Amino acid sequence: MNRISASLFVVALLVSVACNRSPIDIEEPTIVSDEERWMASICSPTFMGRKAGTEGCDSVAVYLQRELNLMGYSVITQPFCLKNSMDLLNLYVEIQGDSDSLIVIGAHYDGAKSGKKYPAADDNGSGVVTLLSLCKYYSDPAHKPHKTLLAGFWAAEEVTLGAAFNGSKYFVKNYSGINRVQYYCNLDCFARKEQGTFFYYSPGFVRAGEIMSEIMSTTDLHGLEFSVKENEKRSSDYMSFYAARIPYFGWNDYDTSGHIHSTDDNIEHISFEQISAVVDMTVKLIDRL
Ligand SMILES: [Zn+2]
Repeated sequence: MNRISASLFVVALLVSVACNRSPIDIEEPTIVSDEERWMASICSPTFMGRKAGTEGCDSVAVYLQRELNLMGYSVITQPFCLKNSMDLLNLYVEIQGDSDSLIVIGAHYDGAKSGKKYPAADDNGSGVVTLLSLCKYYSDPAHKPHKTLLAGFWAAEEVTLGAAFNGSKYFVKNYSGINRVQYYCNLDCFARKEQGTFFYYSPGFVRAGEIMSEIMSTTDLHGLEFSVKENEKRSSDYMSFYAARIPYFGWNDYDTSGHIHSTDDNIEHISFEQISAVVDMTVKLIDRL
């Protein structure tokens, strides 16, 4: 560009700014959060519903390792075989805190229970995405936790071939540091848009409920419906930890009966606001335990 045409370009630019018009017509890109990207990926047909023991579920394990590596984590893999017929894999990362006592935070990453290839967005894309989000938060050295954290992505929670909750059960039996685990946080099925979410705690672990009630009363929940109660169910990976007398807490939809284990459990019904509120309040609770 010579000096005259450069001057003409500047004049044209000034005129267009003066006329309050953009000199370049561009289409603004849609900004997608990491949480939306992760959810869209793991619910995509590529992973075929993430049914345990299928190629889709094995591939999602590779995907999760890659995402965790990108955050700077070394991923520890824990392979095991169920009833000599299904090769499975737990994944976990350790986040060193100021003390060595441990809080394990877990989410099962297998999805479809039956032969149907449904997206399994709430059960348990919600838990997987929330756990990735917590890993991202704690990957910042400024967010070093007081206690050491272990983020576990469990295999085969939905499979009843051996027993239920297979991956977490295997972890509890075989992890060498299990005696250091003080609490378990379970992330499974809590981001259904049409449902409120409750925080639950293991029978007798009233302190967790009290702290969470305080957190909820001082957090801007943007009108989302959240509540606190002692757990009455026996239906997820916390059972593996409770069997080892480890107190637990976690999050759940008010009602899961209508949508889980069906093709209706898809990304259209996921509330990313609920996921982000759960991430925020879980961080606050971990900080106070
Ligand atoms: Zn589940």
